[in-house]
This record gives sequence, structure tokens and C-alpha cells, in this order.
Amino acid sequence: MNSGEKWFGMGARELALQEEAQALATAVADIAAEADALSVIHPGMRDALQKSGLAALMVPAAYGGRNDDVDPLAVCLVREVLMQASSHLDSMFALQGIGSYAITRGGTEEQKARWLPQVASLETLAALALTEEQAGSDLKNVATTLVERDGSLVLTGAKSFISNAGAADFYVTLAKEEAGLSLVLVPADAPGLATAPSPELIAPHVLGEITFDAVELPPSARLGTPGKAMALVLGTLAVFRVSVAGAACGLAAGALTEAGRHARSREQFGRPLLRHGPVAQLLADSWIDVEMARLLTYQAAAAAREDAAAALNRSSMAKVAATEAAGRVVDRCVQVMGRWGLVANSPIERYYRQARPMRLYEGASEVLKLGIARALCDGLG
Ligand SMILES: Cc1cc2nc3c(=O)[nH]c(=O)nc-3n(C[C@H](O)[C@H](O)[C@H](O)COP(=O)(O)OP(=O)(O)OC[C@H]3O[C@@H](n4cnc5c(N)ncnc54)[C@H](O)[C@@H]3O)c2cc1C
Repeated sequence: MNSGEKWFGMGARELALQEEAQALATAVADIAAEADALSVIHPGMRDALQKSGLAALMVPAAYGGRNDDVDPLAVCLVREVLMQASSHLDSMFALQGIGSYAITRGGTEEQKARWLPQVASLETLAALALTEEQAGSDLKNVATTLVERDGSLVLTGAKSFISNAGAADFYVTLAKEEAGLSLVLVPADAPGLATAPSPELIAPHVLGEITFDAVELPPSARLGTPGKAMALVLGTLAVFRVSVAGAACGLAAGALTEAGRHARSREQFGRPLLRHGPVAQLLADSWIDVEMARLLTYQAAAAAREDAAAALNRSSMAKVAATEAAGRVVDRCVQVMGRWGLVANSPIERYYRQARPMRLYEGASEVLKLGIARALCDGLG
């Protein structure tokens, strides 16, 4: 169940990148369980990711990145490999792009030059702060306010369940003002900004709550046009949503490797579990799920590489298909492994817990399906 296979849009460069990601995954194998149990940054994991140079995939070459522009297919295939090794590692890698892409697309030259090279080299950790107590799937409910006062911008409110909060060096933050929803770039050391840990999740994640107590920012902190934040937010999702699908494929494939090895080696009733029909069916159904998810994921990633905005609907389909498939696969794999599937912090048990949040963040399945159904009907003419 290795991810070392060739998919849509993959040539020699992508295969080399896959090997590079695999080398990092192998290098962190000994610290993966420890890091995945943390809700603060694991220094050894950060060090390994920094040394790998892979975070440079998350910004354009003009600002220290690897490619002319951020390549959704490259991000997707790296996440497939990293998630199989460690959700902590996958998240740290992904957040460098998710948290900085609005700067790449909507930032001024000064903002890009100030932040992006440090994001690429992982000297700086990025975060994207959209969610609030009353604003989850429905971001129109954002209550954090941005007000112009005496030549400054004043940010007041609170964000909740923000990845990297407490560890990030800046927060790309969604707030409402008269013109509508806007984005601002808030340095973590801005006076009036405070963070606290979010509730511990079933699958630990570097996650925090942020409060902005009349944080004063210069007008140059704006990202993009006032009131037009959703264009930048959608631009970010267009590039990165399909990479959640990539990570889900990696997780499912990792779980299936564990279960397949177990089914081959453990005997009951005088023969390996694999030779008992119902167990074989669980494994076969899971492999089919993984392959279907990969086909849709890499097709969407290849389309997103050509035109991310035009491929957003396909990326949503891939995200729903792959994360829902990962949930089914990992559940079957636990079943195949019997009592060993339940041992806390074993690879299979970690996969089981880590699969669950993927169906909620970056677009919950039900919400994405609304958009998919709308696109279907719009396309009927
Ligand atoms: C591990 C993790 C990391 C996160 N990181 C970040 C981050 O870095 N930045 C950030 O801003 N946020 C982050 N979030 C928050 C995440 O984006 C939200 O959890 C997500 O948007 C869903 O919002 P909610 O949890 O409030 O659920 P709700 O929006 O309350 O939805 C609850 C349920 O209702 C369903 N639902 C909602 N509306 C509809 C509808 N119209 N039709 C049908 N069904 C609907 C949903 O599908 C879901 O099943 C993170 C969350 C987690 C778990």
C-alpha cells in the first residue's frame, strides 16, 4: 500500500518529490507517536521538516519557494506521504501553505518579502484564523470587527479552534467591517493579541483560541481589498482542499498496510485471517475504496494545477470522497486487527482517531455536498 505509484499529472519530478517526502517520513518514524500525542509543536518534528526543505513548496519561487507558484499536485502528493507517517508532521507542513496563501495572492510586495521567505524556510509558522464560536461552516457569522480609527485599524473579537494558535508567528485573520468581510495580517506579538489552548481533541492537534483586545494595526496590515476577503479565502481553499484528500488517501493506505500485514500473519481456525472470506472482503473493499479515492484525488489535483479556481468543485468531491473513504477503511482495518486494533497509540489506533476530524475541517462533508449538488444542477442547463 505504498504511495510510490504514478498518478494523473505525475512525471519524474513528482516521483522524485514523493521519494523526498518518503525520506522525511522514514526519518521521523521514531518520533511520530510522540509528536502525534502533542497539542504543541514538537521541536524534533519541526527540525526535521525544516531540514527537509519541503516547506518551500508552499510559497512561490520569487519568495524562496521551489516552484514558480504553489503547485496543488505537489502539495497533495507530499501530504499523502507525510500523513501516513504522522498527523503532526502533515499538519505542520500543510499550515505553512494554508496560513500564508492569502499573502501570496493578496499581499503587498512588502508583506510578501517580509513573511514568505521565512514561511518557506520554516523560521516562521503560519496560521489562518477564520472560525469563531458562532461562525463555523457559516463564515458570514464572523463577529470579530475591524474598525478604522485615527489612521489605524482596530481588531476586536475572538477566534476558536485555530491550527498553530499559540505557536504561529502571524495570523491571517478574517474580520467584518462596513465594507464586508476583510482579511488582515496580524503578527503574533501584536499588543492585545492573546492565545489559549483549545479543548484537547480525540486526535491531538496544535490548536488554540485567540482573542484580539482592540489590537491596533497599521493600514498596511490589510490583505487584499476591503470587503473582498472571501475571494482570498476561496483562493486558498481552491489550492489546498484537494491536499486534505491526499492526506486522507495516505492515512487510509497506512491503515490498510497495518491490517493487511496482520491478516497475513495471524492465524485463527487453522489458517491466516486473510483466508477467511469475510476478512478478505473487508480488506478488498478497503483497497477498492483507497484506489477510488486516489483516482479522484489525483485527477482533481492535476486539474487544480492547471486552474485551481475552476477545479474547486472537483477538489470538494475529492475531499468528501477521500475523507469519507478513510473513515470507512480505518474502521474496517480496526475490525480486521481484532483487539490489537484497539491498543492506544498504536499506528492503527492513531489512524482511527486521526481520520475523524478530516470529515469536518476545511469544509464539512455535508456543506461541501451542498455546493456539489448546486454545481450539478447548474450544469444541467
Ligand atoms: C483539527 C481542527 C483544526 C482546525 N483548524 C482551523 C484553522 O486553522 N482555522 C480555522 O479558521 N478553523 C479551523 N478549524 C475549525 C473548522 O474549520 C470548523 O470546525 C469547520 O469549519 C466546521 O465548523 P463547526 O465545527 O463550527 O461545525 P458547524 O458549522 O456547526 O457544523 C456542524 C455540523 O452541521 C453540518 N452543517 C452545517 N451547516 C450545514 C448546512 N448548511 N447544510 C448541511 N449541513 C450543515 C456540518 O456539516 C457538520 O456536520 C479546525 C477544526 C479542527 C477540528
